Amino acid sequence: MFLFIGVFPRERELAVARFRCDRCHEDAEQHVIESGSRLWLFFLPLFTFSRQYVVVCEHCGAVTEVTREFAKRAADLAAHGGRLR
Ligand SMILES: [Zn+2]
Repeated sequence: MFLFIGVFPRERELAVARFRCDRCHEDAEQHVIESGSRLWLFFLPLFTFSRQYVVVCEHCGAVTEVTREFAKRAADLAAHGGRLR
């Protein structure tokens, strides 16, 4: 019997929120991105591990690592039209 198992990188955009960038200090669109590794068995994704969250500034391109709580809060606020900070 053959067993097909693999780990592949996974990246997805959680939200695009507008708030001030820590680097360029512009009020610009910030892309909140979750990345990690996903374990696959045959053609079924099992789970994602080693998750990291970053914010990418659309104005200057700065990539800032953020906590999961910050990323979730930014995604919630973006979904409801709120502002961060
Ligand atoms: Zn910036």
